[in-house]
Amino acid sequence: MVRAALPKGVELYYAAKANPDAAVLETLQDAVDGYEVSSAGELAHVRQVAPGAPLAFGGPGKTPAEIAAAVEAGVHRWHLESVQELYQVASALSSAPEQQLDVLLRVNVPVAEGSLESVALAMGGRPSPFGLDPADVARALELLAGPMSRQLRLRGIHAHLGSGLNAAEHLVVAEQIVNWSAALAGRHGLRFEEVNVGGGMAVDYADPSARFDWAEFGDGLRKLLDRRPELRLRIEPGRALTAYCGFYATEVLDVKLSQGEPFGVVRGGTHHLRTPATKGHDQPFAVVPVEEWSHPWPRPEASGRVSLTGQLCTPKDLLAQGIPVPVIRAGDRVVFAMAGAYAWNISHHEFLMHPHPGFYWI
Ligand SMILES: *Cc1c(COP(=O)(O)O)cnc(C)c1O
Repeated sequence: MVRAALPKGVELYYAAKANPDAAVLETLQDAVDGYEVSSAGELAHVRQVAPGAPLAFGGPGKTPAEIAAAVEAGVHRWHLESVQELYQVASALSSAPEQQLDVLLRVNVPVAEGSLESVALAMGGRPSPFGLDPADVARALELLAGPMSRQLRLRGIHAHLGSGLNAAEHLVVAEQIVNWSAALAGRHGLRFEEVNVGGGMAVDYADPSARFDWAEFGDGLRKLLDRRPELRLRIEPGRALTAYCGFYATEVLDVKLSQGEPFGVVRGGTHHLRTPATKGHDQPFAVVPVEEWSHPWPRPEASGRVSLTGQLCTPKDLLAQGIPVPVIRAGDRVVFAMAGAYAWNISHHEFLMHPHPGFYWI
């Protein structure tokens, strides 16, 4: 569906960090043009799961070992994020004088005030460790036009400025990135073949039925490309592709009232599903009633606006806060939806040393 909405001239890479589970990567293989990886670990993993797939390698703070690994692996695109990285990569290539790499400069492209107002996580458009500051771009271009140009081929610009943009907002940002890149190329007498406008397509945890409007987004990109037919665009969503594919099912261990407010304590917690704690939302859930209760003591239960917490000894272990339920009882099951992106893989698994959850692919 996502693929079908995108016009010719737009490549779709999946940002592996959202969920690098092998089954997920394999399932996506036919729908994507490649994968975006941001560490040597992701690089090795994705290579193994999807051996032939093109990779874009980005991320701030690439170590010499990671750079060497990516040179060795032969990635399709390098997203270089600082002037020092240009030197580092060029220096890593000195032992492979025949090798040429295709490079995008990741830039914290300036966008009009307000363009990123609604983003949940801002990577750019403000002081940020991601990408080159616009003030450093001229120096980077100068280097890439010098002796480095023998081995580093500059293909264009990459910008990933924020997460949580709806289709209309993303198009406004994408257009500014494309225009800024074209103006930059014009000023330096260059021709950019491609622009990567990043990921960050919105996922609304408050409304699981809402979806990023891929048709509107595809239409907008088509119009953008109509004006610049020579250009190839690339996008690299993560969350919007996999958030809806995962569920976290658990058991209510205890229910109590605290100063009149109901709490349901579930097996597990944010060490399994850190998503709501990181983004500050309530993870959507359904209570699945279990009628059986085999204990001789009274079954703890509550109704009304319940908060669901986990087993960790910290008030941050909060999965959902004050959500109305008809009833919740110890022994019921709770199924959290939208747990397919930035869930298990961003969680602090070992905190308090509870067991890991089981994984099931259906
Ligand atoms: C995280 C990341 C993405 C994916 O972001 P989503 O919000 O998951 O779509 C894309 N590009 C880069 C460079 C990233 O760091």
